[in-house]
Formats: sequence, structure tokens, C-alpha cells
Amino acid sequence: CGIVGYVGSSADGKALDVVLEGLARLEYRGYDSAGVALVDGDHVSTRKKAGKLANLRAVLEEQPLEASSTGIGHTRWATHGGPTDANAHPHRGGTDGKLAVIHNGIIENFHSLKGELLDEGVAFASETDTEVVAQLLARAYDGDLTEAMRSVVARLEGAFTLLAVHADAPDVVVGARRNSPLVVGLGDGENFLGSDVAAFIGYTRNALELEQDQIVTITPAGATVVNFDGTPAQGKAFEVTWDAAA
Ligand code: GLU
Repeated sequence: CGIVGYVGSSADGKALDVVLEGLARLEYRGYDSAGVALVDGDHVSTRKKAGKLANLRAVLEEQPLEASSTGIGHTRWATHGGPTDANAHPHRGGTDGKLAVIHNGIIENFHSLKGELLDEGVAFASETDTEVVAQLLARAYDGDLTEAMRSVVARLEGAFTLLAVHADAPDVVVGARRNSPLVVGLGDGENFLGSDVAAFIGYTRNALELEQDQIVTITPAGATVVNFDGTPAQGKAFEVTWDAAA
């Protein structure tokens, strides 16, 4: 339902603050659970909880996360699997704890993809359509998260905004969209992704709207866009003009 991604300077390590603030600004959309994933050394750490953001904040107080400069956050409106802690995003892929994914929308063909993965012995931790994407991405990852995303979205049907982080690419967040919105916020030495500009309005007004079937890779230095077919793309630059206090 609500999506936030952030990469910034490791000296600041403010990913969690940025992501939680973005999720709070997206609360108006309604949701039933919330969660975050931060890159933390050689793995990705997640915290997630059914209910309001306050519940997630309580978990984060009991089980704090190490400061990080790369993170993603999600508020969920359940479509596949009830609103439980296990079904809350982010979802992990693989067994090495290195990859996490968040998702808005519905993967229409998740059932057949999940059947294929189950046949191959993949164990699932949730009932969501989203976890199928996380598992596919983990299997596709071969050192380049953008390429892995490109090969996985080619197999997906439906509507999705997806964000992924991988511990082996510690200052990268990759996003993809089809029939579901994703905007990029361009900062100075830090960059943002959001399901709408509210996610990063507290930090920058320079934005980039992705077009249909595009993948964006953000690092602290910039944002690179490609089409699902791999050809380079630009996205549409615009300035957010509405009042942040609204
Ligand atoms: N289909 C996904 C799920 O049920 C994502 C729902 C959403 O857009 O929040 O977990």
C-alpha cells in the first residue's frame, strides 16, 4: 500500500528515520501492517508487525536495529494472506538473510510461480504473493540486483510496485513498476523512492516519475532508469509544488 526506499551517506546512517517518517506520511492511504528492512553489514535486518505504525515502533524499541544508510519500508493492505506479522512486508528471499522485498499490488500468476518454487524445495514463511517475488529474486541474483529484478519482472503478471535491497549491494535500492505508481526523490548525496511523493516530501522536492514497465536503481550518487526490456530510459522530472504541511 505505502512504499518508501532510501539510500544515503553511511556517516549519517539515517535510513530508519527517513523510512519511518515516509511511512507516517503515507498513513492516510490506510493499511493493516507495517515493516522495514535495513542493510546491516553482510545481511539485511527486518522488523514487521500487524497493526499501526505504533506497533512497529514498539517492536523497534524492544529489538533496535543498527544504524544504516540503506533501507525500505512498507505499509500493507492485505490481498493474499491475512494481516498477520508473518505476512507483513518486507519478505526475505533465499536462506542467507541477504535479500528483502516490499510490494504494492497483486501478482496474478503467483500461484503457478509458487508451485514451481515449492517443487524445487523452496520453503515459504508467508502466504503472500509477494514472497514469491522475493524467492525468485534471490534465485536470480548473480551479483547485479537490477539485472535480477529485470529477469524476475519478465515472469510476473498483474500490478506491482516492487522494491528490493541486497546486503551484497549495500548502497543500492532497486525499484520496479507496472500498473502501480513509483516516484523517485532526488536529494544531495541521498535518494528516495516512494509510492507517492509524500514519502520523501520532508527531504526533497526534485522528483522523477517512472513510466510504465520501468526499473530504477538508486544509490547515494544518483538514479538510473531502464525499461523492462533493458533499454535505457529517463523518467519524467518534475518539481513537487504542494505544501509539505498539507
Ligand atoms: N499483495 C500483497 C500482499 O497481500 C501486497 C498488498 C499491498 O499492496 O499492500 O501482501
